[in-house]
Amino acid sequence: MHITLTSKVRILPDEETKDLLIRTMHAYTSACNYVSVHVFATQTTNKKLLHDELYRDIRSHFALRSQMAESVIRTVVARYKTLTASHEPWKILRFSKPQYDLVWNRDYSLKGDIFSVNTLEGRRKMPFCRPGSSLDGKLGTARLVLKHGKFYLHVSVTHEVTDVTDSAVTNVVGIDRGIRFLATAYDSAGKTAFFSGASVKGKRAHFAALRKELQKVGTPSSRRRLKAIGQRENRWMRDLDHCISKALAEMYPEGTLFVLEDLKGIRKATERIRVSDRYVSVSWPYYDLEQKLIYKAAMHGQKVIKVDPAYTSQTCPHCGRRDSASRDKRRHLFRCTGCGYTSNDDRIAAMNLYSMGNEYLVQSGVSMPLSGGVQSTTPDVRRDPLGGALTSPDVTPADTEYSESVTNAGGVSRPLQGSHKPLLQGVSLSRGS
Ligand SMILES: [Zn+2]
Repeated sequence: MHITLTSKVRILPDEETKDLLIRTMHAYTSACNYVSVHVFATQTTNKKLLHDELYRDIRSHFALRSQMAESVIRTVVARYKTLTASHEPWKILRFSKPQYDLVWNRDYSLKGDIFSVNTLEGRRKMPFCRPGSSLDGKLGTARLVLKHGKFYLHVSVTHEVTDVTDSAVTNVVGIDRGIRFLATAYDSAGKTAFFSGASVKGKRAHFAALRKELQKVGTPSSRRRLKAIGQRENRWMRDLDHCISKALAEMYPEGTLFVLEDLKGIRKATERIRVSDRYVSVSWPYYDLEQKLIYKAAMHGQKVIKVDPAYTSQTCPHCGRRDSASRDKRRHLFRCTGCGYTSNDDRIAAMNLYSMGNEYLVQSGVSMPLSGGVQSTTPDVRRDPLGGALTSPDVTPADTEYSESVTNAGGVSRPLQGSHKPLLQGVSLSRGS
């Protein structure tokens, strides 16, 4: 299996090269706009036709080198194809920010600590900072961008990862995604990890209130601010998903099978939360988390499956009885009407997903010698509060900003609201605790 990620590389040109890069990017962007006018008017996205028609003009008007002229056509065509693919009405596309698209080994290379690039005045070399994400893989096309006076290269890097076969699975983790807990994970050792969503909910409510205010105003500047806030919120949620998926992939061993709910129907997901929580849209952050976990798991020799989430929150993981009356949504408590098994309701869902993962393995002909698991776990995992909890994953500097929102009592049992049973086992991602 191949996984393609985008690495962001900071480029460090000297003053003179900076000027040359900016001129090159402006020429490239101007040429893109020139081609865009043509594509819009003729409605053709055929690269060969565009090349025959425009190549000479692009080279002479914008002083671009031959390969850059080729790339310009590709860049513009790709944008128009995205437009058609998303079924948006045909409109003229403008390239307002300076950019420059590069083909690996032809227009650019990254070797040692030197970035080499084709410019209006030929090849130039300059240093770059190695990114946190890996560059060990097959480098693909890259885009040079200028942000707040700094140059970045967005490089696509394709990694080859081996598929995890079902027979190589040694650990199953059921993951329930929700609002109160962004993720609740239950594993083969019978341990539960909670990722609290409390402060996330607060922050999203804050964004929602801001949006509502600005919508009322309705001026061009308020619309601009509205858009900016939306983008800020999306970035923030993406970073949060990055932290959660990273923590999950890192705290479980190779050979782990993650079991997620298949949230194809967003409505289903919305129905699972209270009406007062509805302003917290649950659709795309879930999808985003899923995508991030899929590739991070693959990089760690783990895999992800999705199962039908029907009844995961109403079924008793201990005796198998399904009864909606077992779940007290208001108190976030599950108490089986059959056997009396009691636990936090998010944990119940994670346990059921865990069971479905085991079921999946049985069906694919794999029997796994698992210690722990649903049947052998006592209802409340308080026998060994510290030993029973997962160790805290390291919080990297990049994660620190969000640590307050991904926090829980580290391994310390604490009373469940409305119950006197210390049921919660947690994983701590918070600073210094
Ligand atoms: Zn039961």
